[in-house]
Order: sequence, then C-alpha cells, then structure tokens
Amino acid sequence: MIDNDSLYALLDKRFVDIAKSCDQAGVVLRHDKKSIWASDIEEAYYCEKKLDYSYLLSEDEVLPDAIASLDHNLKEQCLNDLERKYIGSINHAAVMKPDCSEIRVLGIFNGIPIGGSIDELEVSGENITVVERKFRSLIPNRPYNEHEVQGRVYCYCLDYMLAGTFPYNLNYRIDYCDLNDAGDSEIKLWQYYQYNQRMKVHMHDELSFVAGYWTEKREAKAQKSSRAKCNDCVYNVICESSLVYEDN
Ligand code: SF4
Repeated sequence: MIDNDSLYALLDKRFVDIAKSCDQAGVVLRHDKKSIWASDIEEAYYCEKKLDYSYLLSEDEVLPDAIASLDHNLKEQCLNDLERKYIGSINHAAVMKPDCSEIRVLGIFNGIPIGGSIDELEVSGENITVVERKFRSLIPNRPYNEHEVQGRVYCYCLDYMLAGTFPYNLNYRIDYCDLNDAGDSEIKLWQYYQYNQRMKVHMHDELSFVAGYWTEKREAKAQKSSRAKCNDCVYNVICESSLVYEDN
C-alpha cells in the first residue's frame, strides 16, 4: 500500500523520466504532433474526420470569429463556475484529497507517447480509481463510448507508469454531472469499471486503431451513427461525409 503523497511524487517523477525518453526518441506524428493526448483519442471515437478538420482548419475558420470566441468564452466561464462548486463538494469524501486533481500521465504504445490529465484520482488501499467528470445538460442513459475510451487511456498510462512498483488495482469511473439553471452541479449518472485483463486487451485494440491514423497508415474515418453527430458538427457544411447531405 502506498500513501497519497508518495504516489503523486512517484507519478511526477515517472512523467518526467518518460517525457525525456520520448524527447530522445523524437517521434513525429500526423500534423507534426509529438504525442497523442487522451482527448485526441476520445475525439477519434467521436469522429476522426472532425478531429482531422480541427487540426487542419480550427473551428474559428468555420464559425464567424466573433461567434466562435464568444461561444468559447461563455462555455469556459460556465464550466469553471460549476467545476469549482463540484470540486468543493466532492473533496469532503474521505478518500479524496484536495491535491489529487489534474494528474499528468504519460505512457508509450508501440513507440508512440500517449498522455493526458486525469480529472481526479481516488486512492483507497490498493484500489486506484480514475475519475472522469463530464458536465452535460442532457445526461445520457449510459456513458458514451468515447468517454469510456478516455477512462481506459488514463488507466493504460497509469499502468505504464506504475508497472513493477507496488501492488495496485486500477479502476475508472465516469461521472455525468447535470448543468442546471441554479448553477449547482449534481451527479446524475456514474459508471464504474475495473481495468482488468479484458479491458487491457480491448484498450490495445483501440490504441492500435487510433495509432493507424496518427502514423499516417490510413486516412481519417467518419464515425457515423444513428445519433447523427453531423447535425451539430461545425464542419458539416464542408465535410464530404456529413450525414446532413444524406438527410436532404
Ligand atoms: S460532418 Fe459528420 S462526418 Fe464530417 S466531421 Fe462532422 S461529425 Fe464527422
């Protein structure tokens, strides 16, 4: 069993050591990136076309500048207020520590650096749980696939950093928090998973799929579904794969 302070010190040291080894390896990926971030992997499971456009164009080139920046500023402001309240409420739980948020993690998959920043870590005995918080006005019935992938990516990185150090069990949890008019946040849905052997195999397949795009072995794929993501997509007027065209 490891105490929280020693765990965070160990993770900090491992992050720096792995980052140095990645610099020395000098990997260069699509769009001149040197590593893939968990948010990019999540986006690939939403729609790789959208991810590709976001690097090629940026949202500002699609939306009028003023609207794009206003929208972004409003979202940031709203989220910050709610996050502060939410963090204030959960830190009362015995297993939570105020300093266990925004933990940097870094792993390597097939030579590719994979990184991210974990919202929250819960540590209780040998159980380490990654907590991913999603703020939504509409709470889904079950976690979105892309959010589950994100939780697994964090576990993959943690496992890479902690392998061979001390006994631990990794888990991840997705919390969906309601954005209500009163400005309070409330957890409406949470789902807990063990990062077991089956999950590890699953993660390996998922990272292989994503790596194909970043190493330019294949082009971006549109992820189409009955939820018609394209209707809300900022790129739907220029995207040749848009469902909006097919609907008309
Ligand atoms: S319009 Fe649809 S297919 Fe094209 S980038 Fe957007 S979500 Fe992806």
